[in-house]
Amino acid sequence: KLVSKDFKAEPTVIDIKGIKIGGGNVAVMAGPCSVENRDMLFAIGKRVSEAGAKILRGGAFKPRSSPYAFQGLGVEGLKYLREVADEYGMLVITEMMDPRDMDDILKYTDIIQIGARNMQNFRLLRELGTIKTPVMLKRGLCATIKEFLMAAEYIAAGGNHQVILCERGIRTYETETRNTLDLSAVPVVQSNTHLPIIVDPSHGTGRRDCILPMAQAAVAAGADGVMIEVHNCPEDAMSDGDQSIVPDDFDILMKRMRVIAEAIGKKI
Ligand code: PEP
Ligand code: MN
Repeated sequence: KLVSKDFKAEPTVIDIKGIKIGGGNVAVMAGPCSVENRDMLFAIGKRVSEAGAKILRGGAFKPRSSPYAFQGLGVEGLKYLREVADEYGMLVITEMMDPRDMDDILKYTDIIQIGARNMQNFRLLRELGTIKTPVMLKRGLCATIKEFLMAAEYIAAGGNHQVILCERGIRTYETETRNTLDLSAVPVVQSNTHLPIIVDPSHGTGRRDCILPMAQAAVAAGADGVMIEVHNCPEDAMSDGDQSIVPDDFDILMKRMRVIAEAIGKKI
């Protein structure tokens, strides 16, 4: 398998405009769940970049459980992401649900996110194999690690080797958290593949009070990065307010993650 360590022993390092993901680096992706408007994105982008995040996240095409819930701003949201990221020297990561949006997304984004719900959308994965833009593939809600890695293999098999994996929690019988964050996936994945693995404690737990502890634990466990939902006013968020942290708490988290990263010899 192309993604396996047997095929390639040394870790894959993805370098986008000088910002590195993988190897001895801890990549920090932060931003709102959904891009709601230009002002909020500027406000959040400013704070997370000042705290040290190099990658701005935000959904423009949202995979919502209800068809009546906010579906995202679409191309307008992509434009705001690019504008804010350029202002603060950041990269953009955003989700693609449908290959029909590919041209628009490629125009404005640096990393394409494939959400948990589409981890086994094999036609979509094959499309991603034909492009050069790095892809972050999120673990499916009910996917085993083997299935997760085979989904990444679909992208690599098509010729795109710039794949980042993302552990974002799986469904278990536990109901206190939205999902059960599988932190042991980090070392397990790292012993099986050369691809970088990022941890998303926001979707992984669904609870604001779990974000700092689980993000810190992810860095300590050797994750190649974290993805954190940050909102300047979580109680008014159009999606995922319960799991979004405020910029002041993101500042605290960055300081703690720096200490942990340094202790294990990684750059953040
Ligand atoms: C997201 O990161 O915006 C998202 C919808 O996450 P997931 O696909 O992991 O549910
Ligand atoms: Mn979200």
